[in-house]
This record gives sequence, structure tokens and C-alpha cells, in this order.
Amino acid sequence: MTTRHAVISGASIAGLSAAFWLRRTGWEVTVLERAPAFRDGGQNVDVRGTAREVLTRMGLFDAVKEQNTTETGTVFVDSSGRVRAELPSAGPDGATAELEVLRGDLARTILRHLPEGVEVLYGDTISRVEDGPDAVTVTTTGRTFHADLLVVAEGVRSTTRDLLFDDVDRRDLGIAMAFGTIPRTASDDSRWRWYTTTGGRQIHLRPDNHGTTRAMLACTGDFAVVDRAGALSRFRDRFADAGWEARRVLDGFDVSDDVYVDQLTQIRMPSWHRGRVCLVGDAAWCVTPMGGGGASLALVSGYVLAASLSGSGSGLTAYEEWMRPLVDDVQNFPGWLVPFAYPRTRLGLRLRHVADKAFTSRLLAPLTARMTQVAASERALPPIAVPQA
Ligand SMILES: Cc1cc2nc3c(=O)[nH]c(=O)nc-3n(C[C@H](O)[C@H](O)[C@H](O)COP(=O)(O)OP(=O)(O)OC[C@H]3O[C@@H](n4cnc5c(N)ncnc54)[C@H](O)[C@@H]3O)c2cc1C
Repeated sequence: MTTRHAVISGASIAGLSAAFWLRRTGWEVTVLERAPAFRDGGQNVDVRGTAREVLTRMGLFDAVKEQNTTETGTVFVDSSGRVRAELPSAGPDGATAELEVLRGDLARTILRHLPEGVEVLYGDTISRVEDGPDAVTVTTTGRTFHADLLVVAEGVRSTTRDLLFDDVDRRDLGIAMAFGTIPRTASDDSRWRWYTTTGGRQIHLRPDNHGTTRAMLACTGDFAVVDRAGALSRFRDRFADAGWEARRVLDGFDVSDDVYVDQLTQIRMPSWHRGRVCLVGDAAWCVTPMGGGGASLALVSGYVLAASLSGSGSGLTAYEEWMRPLVDDVQNFPGWLVPFAYPRTRLGLRLRHVADKAFTSRLLAPLTARMTQVAASERALPPIAVPQA
């Protein structure tokens, strides 16, 4: 039997997971990454639900757990840092999950454990794709591949997806986020501290395993059109009078080389495959941090894709059928969630505080805990046929 060849575009969580599992199931695999070298960076993500099982099957559960960010819980704080309420974190999928890890650490762990023979080419992007009955021809800046499958794993703003699919529904959630690394201070503890104030603003501080603090500013508004410097200046204006640790975070971001700004955009598509082209991870269904579980879904998608194409698996349709309910579950949050999470007025903030107390009370905490259980499924993962060595 001839070996099938997959070209994967994008070397982050989804692309590397697909590379891992396609190679494991006997494919020849080439990964193209636009960045000139491995992209480190990115802040706290977690591995939840079915993704824990995928990580276990990769043999990487312990390797990822060793890089835990050391976070022990999630609390809502007021402007003086006093804890107002604590979100439930019991069990593996609590607000602070058992597997909390930095995006860069998770991606690097998969990269280092890729099965032998995966070719990773940095600084290369796709310029042209011709999808034919016998092969998909992928032209990059330097090479041409005649492959059996093209996997697009380029994240939310994927250009190859936009080149090949004309039915991409982009939903701007009206929230901008800036993530960055700042120096740790004595007042930082091991919890995810979450501060909400009027004007639709939130500040988050989280511990990491590198001796620094991971900060996030989030606010309502449209920051999509500005570059990084422009976006940071807009954040400075919006957070000047936000209170709590706003000034420290703004000053830290000004000198950090690791700031990632995102205008939260959900991607919705009627289908994630066409011919020999298939989308995985954020490129297919970006759920945004508002939904949560993006890294977990990306990890799972690589496994489910390879499983659906292995053995007697029924191909890309089966991949899509398995993933769709997991994605729908995260994307379809109620319309009131954004205004509730980002109150504009003092009254809205007061209502939010009352709700926080109620949702974290002993009576409602089990219900609240269920909201963090994303990327979970009662269905067993599809079987995967790994050829014997
Ligand atoms: C540097 C970085 C930092 C991040 N930081 C955070 C964070 O702090 N918080 C958070 O919630 N999420 C963050 N994310 C997003 C998070 O990783 C994803 O939501 C989630 O893990 C799903 O991953 P993905 O592999 O589908 O997409 P992504 O992680 O977005 O990865 C896409 C990959 O494709 C590459 N790429 C893009 N376009 C092309 C192209 N045309 N050709 C070749 N390669 C291409 C990108 O360089 C990247 O490596 C970050 C992503 C990146 C790349």
C-alpha cells in the first residue's frame, strides 16, 4: 500500500496534534508554519474533558502536568484585592482545571514528542491550492506538494481557509483582550484573580511556572482595526481609571515582548471539509476564550481527524460528525452572557456581584461547576488504527 501524504498548515496545538496522530497512523506528514521558528508565547490554556484522554493516549499527560502553571483556584476580587467569591475548582475540569498550562509549553511538548519522520518547515506559507480528484496540489513560497490531504490549522484568521471556503461566518463578540507576561510581585498568589468593573472592563492575574505573572485586560469594544501599539494605547485609555492592578498591568504590557491582542471572533461554518481539504482547531470553529476550551478542542480535533481516516473509519464526514456537538456546545452560549460578564453601569456591576455570590453559593456551585466542563463528551473517542511496527 502506498503511504498517504498530508500537508498541514499551522504548527500550534491543532496542527501539531494532527501531525502527531496522522504520522502515528502511517501518513507521511509535512507541517508548514508561517513563523520563522517555533512560536512560543501565549498565556494560560487548559486541557479539559475529552482532551485529557487524547493527551493520555499521546503519552503526554504527565509531561504536560509537570508544566502546570501552579494555579490552585479562581476567585473574584474587588478593587482592593479582597476575595468576593470563589469559583468551584474541585475535580479535573473546575474553573482552575487539573491541567493548566501555558500555550507555548503545551505546543512545544507536542512538537518535541512528534513521532519520527514528521517534516516541519518554518517560514513557509501556502500561496495556491488546486484540489483535484487524485491529489491536492499545494504551492508554497518555495515548494509544490502533490498530497492526499491538506489540513488547515492556521487559527482564527486563517488565510488558506479564506482562500478556499466562501461560507465563513465571522461573529465579532464585541470584546477585545490583551494577554501578556509581567513581573511577579509579592502580592501575587497562586490563584487566578478576576476583577470586573464598570465600563465593560475586566482585569485578570494568573500565576505561571516561570516566576512571572500572566495578565489579561478584557473590555467591550472594537480593537480589530489597530496594530499592537495602537491597541495597547486604546487599552491604556480604557483602563486608566479601572482601579485594582490596572496601572501595573498597563506598565508591564508596555515593556513586555509577549503581548497577544485579540478581538474575540467566533468562526462558524456549515462544513469543515471540502474535497481533500479539511479544517481543524480555531481555523474551523474558533470558540474564543468567552466560550472556553479552544486548546482542548484543537487537541481533540487532531486525534479525531486521524482516527476517522484510519482503518475502516469513514473519513472526513465522520470527523465532522464527531466534532460538531462538542463545538456547538461551547459556541452556543446565551446572548445575555456578554453584557452580564462585562457590566457597563454601577447597577449592572452590583447585579453581577449579587449573581456571583448566588452562583458560587453551596446550593448553586454544582450547577456553576458544570459550566466549565467544556470539550466533554459521553461518547467514547473513535477508535484509531495504529499500524504495528
Ligand atoms: C502566539 C500565540 C499566542 C496565543 N496566546 C493565547 C492566549 O494568551 N490566550 C488564549 O486564549 N489563546 C491564545 N492563543 C490562541 C490559542 O492557541 C488557540 O485558541 C487554541 O489553542 C487553538 O489553537 P490552533 O492551533 O487552532 O490555533 P493557533 O494557536 O492560533 O495557531 C495557529 C498557527 O498557525 C500559524 N499560521 C497562521 N496563519 C498561517 C499561514 N497562513 N500559514 C502557515 N501558518 C500559519 C500561526 O503562526 C500559529 O502557529 C494564541 C495563539 C498563538 C499562535
